[in-house]
Amino acid sequence: MTRRRWIAEHWDEATATIEGAQAVHLVRVLRAGPGMKADVVAGGRVFQAEIASVSQTGETSEVRFNLVAELDADPALPVTLVMAVYRFDRMEWAIEKATELGVAAIAPVFARRTEKHLAQAAKKRAERWRRIAHEASQQARRSEVPVIHEPVELAEHVRAASVAARIVLAEQERSTTLRRAIEEAIDAAREETPVLEFAIGPEGGWAPAEEALFDDNGWRAASLGPRILRAETAAIAALAVIASCLE
Ligand code: SAM
Repeated sequence: MTRRRWIAEHWDEATATIEGAQAVHLVRVLRAGPGMKADVVAGGRVFQAEIASVSQTGETSEVRFNLVAELDADPALPVTLVMAVYRFDRMEWAIEKATELGVAAIAPVFARRTEKHLAQAAKKRAERWRRIAHEASQQARRSEVPVIHEPVELAEHVRAASVAARIVLAEQERSTTLRRAIEEAIDAAREETPVLEFAIGPEGGWAPAEEALFDDNGWRAASLGPRILRAETAAIAALAVIASCLE
């Protein structure tokens, strides 16, 4: 059986520590104590580890591990999901599932059709999104947590310099499929695995000015087929296609 994996907040060459909700769960629910074995992720490396000490002060807990042996780590997909801010419950579902599928980073952006009250509230939301990604990484036994960027205006992200092959998913696109766009990126990267970014619009889709913005900045428009998918379905379907092409 695969052992549960814990992602450490602090570490050095020989030890790692977890705190907060994870430590409380380990101590109170799983009744962890010195000597218990677990897999621990420390700085993107995975270790077989053993609990060295458990401490509890009031409501806070801390679990310290001795790192015994390094295990093989599985790298994240070199892919960033650029996601227009929209309904938080659906975005959070997408963050969780994209993490399970191995995304390296998620960049939330404010699009023209992002509702104003959500754009305001999103500025305080990144920490919650990071916690969701952290939880999902442990669940999926990943060796690193995806980076969740602070939300920014779409234009700022689209115009920023990037080494990635950049793809915008647009339901109006008819000639280029996502698979075709990925194959072009694979060909252009030659022997290397390409670094990819793909953008998903909000519930109302991209505004015409945004489509022009992507176009002017070298993003390749691609289709996921003739059906209109919800934004979160499109994000996860696209990531699954990318994973199947890159892995
Ligand atoms: N404006 C659309 C409508 O109501 O007709 C809906 C936009 S869709 C809910 C949200 C986003 O998902 C789009 O901006 C696009 O990024 C992506 N998307 C959905 N279906 C797609 C498809 N068939 N091909 C490419 N992208 C798609």
